[in-house]
Amino acid sequence: MPASQPKIWLKPGREKSLRRCHPWLFSGAIERVEGEAAAGATVEVVGSSGEFLARGAYSPASQIRARVWTFDRGESIDAAFFRRRLARAVESRRRLGLLGAQAACRLVFAESDGLPGLVVDRYGDYLVCQIMSAGVEAWRATIVELLAELCAPRGIYERSEGGARHKEGLPSRRGALAGDEPPRELEIVAGGVRLVVDIANGQKTGAYLDQQRNRERVAAHARDAEVLDAFSYTGGFAISCLHAGAKSATLLDSSADALALAERETAANAVGDRCRFVVANVFDELRAVREAGTRFDLVVLDPPKFVHSAEQINAGSRGYKDINMLGLALVRPGGVLATFSCSGHVDAALFQKIVAGAAVDAGRTAHILERLSQPADHPVATEFPEADYLKGLILRVH
Ligand code: SAH
Repeated sequence: MPASQPKIWLKPGREKSLRRCHPWLFSGAIERVEGEAAAGATVEVVGSSGEFLARGAYSPASQIRARVWTFDRGESIDAAFFRRRLARAVESRRRLGLLGAQAACRLVFAESDGLPGLVVDRYGDYLVCQIMSAGVEAWRATIVELLAELCAPRGIYERSEGGARHKEGLPSRRGALAGDEPPRELEIVAGGVRLVVDIANGQKTGAYLDQQRNRERVAAHARDAEVLDAFSYTGGFAISCLHAGAKSATLLDSSADALALAERETAANAVGDRCRFVVANVFDELRAVREAGTRFDLVVLDPPKFVHSAEQINAGSRGYKDINMLGLALVRPGGVLATFSCSGHVDAALFQKIVAGAAVDAGRTAHILERLSQPADHPVATEFPEADYLKGLILRVH
């Protein structure tokens, strides 16, 4: 380590969370910064009596003032460090059998893979990166080079957009990082389903990979069903249900672009003729459907994140309750509701309580058949429970 590495001194008594290997250092815990630290620079974090705690990346614009790369005093932050972390993440997915030629998975899941601020999704021959912290931004060229070397993709594309990046003081970036530009529509095969992915313009990195396994779990209840896929995006749930023998599916989303892609994806799966596509706000449309008396055998609710911070828990909970009351009302007696929340601030216990309240208010009884969470390519590091964000319930509704 160069002697000049800047040092962050903690206030007395603020060392606890780093000692438990939680990778975030909040500004309030900092006594002072010794030396000149640029955004993304590697800094050493020391306790109030100067003892080494961690080495991380400095984020002067963020409340999370540093994100830890390593708790090991002997580990330098250099290309070899990133090679080790990236190789470990890729090897984990290989052991899970997720690296088939045409398959898609999350290759790197930020803090959970020891790389705070970096998400990498793999769609067959293409990788898509989300660079969400000053630290990863500083190492972007090294990371792109290493990904090219470790995975030999045809192209690496960047989709670094949204709130998290702005909190770090970084502008949005989108475009090719290495190799070929991805085709406008890339076909991926996942669990017997063809995904049509628009890497450059789709939502997130192009698809919601975190729901791949849950679609199959929900589809297990789809035989002969009339399905409502609310917040459908490109219809991942609807397609799995139709493959499993559902009679028909209504795909509902407020994004016309999403449903245009859904038309192509359902056609690629030879189920388009059993689909209806409705561009509408789910809250309004479900009310209208309820009044019209239309009912379904299987209703899927997979809304976007309603809760982005602890202050939004109450308002977001009301949103979840509303949508679940409406969803429950549309299920034929004996049918199934599959309902999800991707808000990390709403834990599984709170979500179950919200759904229970919605059932009471809707005048329905609901039995939990199965609890769902996130798949193995979105792992949760035990010291970082914040990574545990996705939860779902499959319920029998009477
Ligand atoms: N179920 C999808 C992922 C859904 S992501 C899958 O398995 O791939 C959430 C979706 O909700 C997005 O496509 C977004 O366009 C849509 N959305 C957000 N708010 C909405 C609203 N109020 N009404 C309808 N759709 C909405």
